[in-house]
Amino acid sequence: MKNIRNFCIIAHIDHGKSTLADRLLDETATVTKREAQAQLLDSMDLERERGITIKSHAIQMEYMYKGELYILNLIDTPGHVDFSYEVSRSIAACEGALLVVDAAQSIQAQTISNLYLALENDLEIIPVLNKVDLPSANPEEVTDDIVDLLGCKAEDVIPASAKTGIGIQEILAAVIERIPAPKGNVDEPLQALIFDSVYNPFRGVETYFRVLNGSIKKNQQIKFVATGNTYGADEVGTLKLTQAPKQEIKAGDVGYLITGIKDAREVKVGDTITDAKNPTKNAIAGFEDVKPMVFAGIYPVDTEDYEELRNSMEKLQLNDASLVFEPESSAALGFGFRCGFLGMLHLEIIQERLEREFDMTVITTVPNVSYHAFTHKNPDEIILVNNPSDLPEPSSLNRVEEPFIKATIITKSDFVGPVMSLCIEKRGQIVAQTYLTTERVELNFDMPLAEIVFDFYDRLKTVSKGYASFDYSPIGMRASKLVKVDVLLNAQPVDALSALLHQDNAYDIGKRMCEKLRELIPRQQFDIPIQAAIGAKIISRETVKALRKDVTAKCYGGDISRKRKLLEKQKKGKKRMRAVGNVEIPQEAFMAVLKLN
Ligand code: GDP
Ligand code: MG
Repeated sequence: MKNIRNFCIIAHIDHGKSTLADRLLDETATVTKREAQAQLLDSMDLERERGITIKSHAIQMEYMYKGELYILNLIDTPGHVDFSYEVSRSIAACEGALLVVDAAQSIQAQTISNLYLALENDLEIIPVLNKVDLPSANPEEVTDDIVDLLGCKAEDVIPASAKTGIGIQEILAAVIERIPAPKGNVDEPLQALIFDSVYNPFRGVETYFRVLNGSIKKNQQIKFVATGNTYGADEVGTLKLTQAPKQEIKAGDVGYLITGIKDAREVKVGDTITDAKNPTKNAIAGFEDVKPMVFAGIYPVDTEDYEELRNSMEKLQLNDASLVFEPESSAALGFGFRCGFLGMLHLEIIQERLEREFDMTVITTVPNVSYHAFTHKNPDEIILVNNPSDLPEPSSLNRVEEPFIKATIITKSDFVGPVMSLCIEKRGQIVAQTYLTTERVELNFDMPLAEIVFDFYDRLKTVSKGYASFDYSPIGMRASKLVKVDVLLNAQPVDALSALLHQDNAYDIGKRMCEKLRELIPRQQFDIPIQAAIGAKIISRETVKALRKDVTAKCYGGDISRKRKLLEKQKKGKKRMRAVGNVEIPQEAFMAVLKLN
């Protein structure tokens, strides 16, 4: 155990975490030339294309240092807030962390939020000043920023370039010298933390774990504490670039487990693995069931594809346990599913995976957060509102609560004013304002999560000219004034366009939604009135004007095959349209409320 080091890399997005991981693998000869491929740990295609790490992964390296062989387990963590619970679990599996800071960008919001997570878990922090090769790097200033943040010495900060290889050996030496070896007792009952799981279509779910005490052996009967399920350990091993099966993984080490589980939902990140016959008395603290934060309807563009969509969603759920869904129906869109996501990025990823991996064309409706409603009749009973149609009648409504978050924003002092105005407009309350340096400020707000869902990121980027970083964590439910805004097309309510909005925003957003829909809905042979309403009260009205006759006249006559081609083309273009009554609604219209500016 004394020659094992377990560590992770934490960083703000794009500060070079994945690139540094690649360099460490090169340096420890974990990766052969043939296997070397940029950003190796991001194994999903989608991850590589978007340059983000969605799921965390682990890899074991061997390194000779001062004549001794060390086992270095590197646990990669996802960089996006949607997946912050996974970050916290992978951090809990380590004794140390490399805190990577871009020498041109300095400390950003996720640097700080990830650092706090690491400090909560008592990790040894090794600050790495990355990208020193960049001409725009400010090594002295950024080192000062890091020293201020951590209270460390300037000599503790390792200047590095994951691109050119500067500092890589120093980083490996620091991992060995500064990060403590794992503690734990091999003779105690098995206690292992699940920090990740990956779905493999051939082998079922692979569970990644860190053994704290005892050991996990091939063919052992094991139990997952939170779910209570018992399994046989069909295969255990360590995570090299490919899996290396072993007879036993002992306290202090990191490994994988295959039990033949086919459904990702049976394996819960944060759960404890123990021996079925001689279970540990202590589950590892801090297990949480991940809760979806954002809900939206997903409908097939073609109503006939409903069953196929169900099949696809079920398959997706096998390998993404954080996706939840249940059937729902909409008068406008027919049969579909109400789905829960960890955040907006997760929603986009699911939609994209449905298209790429399952060839499904889907329509996503206006997302909303999950509210708690209470009626006069049962003022103590929580009614979960994940869908606008779940909101009880205003007359029977006692009160509503909505999820709040603590937002951390780091920006330049020049932009404090505009960023504050934006957050206040978004119903935020300032909690703290801290000058990190004379030029850089950290702002903390309590804010409704719903306001983050609606065009917050884009607005923040605009008001700060790109110089603001943002992170958040949930802080519980608070009282809210919620109304349901309905949209009527041709005097018919279109349920799939309804949105749950705060009372103070309802009129303004209702008005802007009508304007946006007027732009998005194609003109037809007749006028299409668009109205927004709260209950029976119309709050806004716009009209999509009818086409003039001569426009269509052009289509008559001419070569029949050319006309057919044109029709085919139109059909394709229409893929993401849904006819509601006699009005054609494009996909963008369902998301219009999100992009009102
Ligand atoms: P992550 O989001 O933290 O995983 O960041 P990546 O590893 O994906 O890196 C983000 C971008 O920065 C990529 O374009 C990298 O090629 C680049 N990058 C990473 N490290 C360095 C470095 O040391 N120097 C330079 N010049 N670019 C780097
Ligand atoms: Mg990455």
